[in-house]
Amino acid sequence: MLVEAAVKAAKEAFPIWSSKSPLERSQILNKLADLIEHDLEAFAQAESKDQGKTITFARTVDIPRAVHNFRFFASSILHHVTECTEMPTMGCVHYTSRAPVGVAGLISPWNLPLYLLTWKIAPAIACGNTVVAKPSEMTSVTAWMMCKLMEKAGVPPGVVNVVFGAGAKAGEALVCHPDVPLISFTGSTLTAQRITEKSAPHCKRLSLELGGKNPAIIFDDADLGQCIPTTVRSSFANQGEICLCTSRIFVQRGIYSEFLKRFVEETKKWKTGNPSDPTINVGALISKEHLEKVRNYVKKAQAEGARVLCGEGVDPLALPPGNQKGYFMLPTVIAEVKDESCCMQEEIFGPVTCVVPFDTEEEVIRRANGVKYGLAATVWSGNVGRVHRVAHRLQSGLVWTNCWLVRDLNLPFGGMKASGIGREGAKDSYEFFTEVKTITIKH
Ligand code: NAD
Repeated sequence: MLVEAAVKAAKEAFPIWSSKSPLERSQILNKLADLIEHDLEAFAQAESKDQGKTITFARTVDIPRAVHNFRFFASSILHHVTECTEMPTMGCVHYTSRAPVGVAGLISPWNLPLYLLTWKIAPAIACGNTVVAKPSEMTSVTAWMMCKLMEKAGVPPGVVNVVFGAGAKAGEALVCHPDVPLISFTGSTLTAQRITEKSAPHCKRLSLELGGKNPAIIFDDADLGQCIPTTVRSSFANQGEICLCTSRIFVQRGIYSEFLKRFVEETKKWKTGNPSDPTINVGALISKEHLEKVRNYVKKAQAEGARVLCGEGVDPLALPPGNQKGYFMLPTVIAEVKDESCCMQEEIFGPVTCVVPFDTEEEVIRRANGVKYGLAATVWSGNVGRVHRVAHRLQSGLVWTNCWLVRDLNLPFGGMKASGIGREGAKDSYEFFTEVKTITIKH
């Protein structure tokens, strides 16, 4: 019922919104960005409480990026040009014309709630579509807060409709709705398979941003002073609940022992505790079920003979006063794990990372590519030729060398293999959220 009403409202708002100029839409997006930024602290507090993530992460990453998403697409929509070619011998000119598609269905996960929701809403409405968005049922507070700012920002009624509900019901109703021609989804590979199946009878346009099992490859000429703290961050930021987090660390054998020692020391500096304390690095996991799932991976690795070097089951975890029922877990480093182990193959999506040695470049490329996912890889080396060579051969939509999570929103974002279909970014999102037509004129 709710989805039906939301799609109806979006459909009715489409003719007026799609006929506004890019500049008019841009001004409204900028106003919305200003309003969220004005309330940044309230949004950050709400996001931290809702999910258990640290207040520092919410303040410095989640909410600023949500603001930036609106500003970025407010600007980028003003700069797209269409193509034109001439055929003098035929006396013809060809050009492309783009138009918004209609009502966009946007489905997002719980780990970066407002950040990922606005990464879809901003390009969709900037291009002139109207939307029905369904945030994760586990984290809907900041989406609700954003809805309350829409009218003040000048977003006309019906342009942005947010439906709060469970995936199997509200999400699936959106996916199956005949008046929603495109679905942009971020979430697990399993849900994406279901969405693909359910949307197939309608031949919907799909963008799927899915899970990862991301490798970090550390060669013996890497600058460990930079590499170690960054790899701790890439493994454990946001409790490891980021699709781009590192969960397999391949270290060249000559530096393996030194790396392990220093990596564990650095990991132990990360403080787990009350998410609202700004000095805390690791907050609570999203739910009891998720905590159990993540812990089980550690148990399975131990049962297979792997060694837990720090964290779960090895170091004492003092639950913070006032958070005695929270779903906390220490950042956990596992060594001596076999490549075929589920810890090295499946997405854990928690504060657990595996460290294993390798000998040659050829070998590590093969092993890094030996999973079903292909989202984000990291390569650490001082050899420019090598980082180019390795980056080209990794089956991964994103490859960071000597850094992690440095993004330019202009460029394509997304995964290969089971990590997704399609890309997001200035040009890619514009192409996804508009229909193109080629027009030929004979003169
Ligand atoms: P999920 O797939 O369980 O849920 C994602 C969204 O889909 C939620 O809003 C949920 O309600 C909805 N949903 C569930 N079943 C549905 C159905 N049958 N039809 C339509 N919608 C349905 O994922 P999650 O647990 O919320 O998020 C974690 C996953 O998201 C991880 O796998 C992570 O890697 C992935 N993720 C990927 C990216 C990326 O950009 N590649 C970013 C963040 C998270």
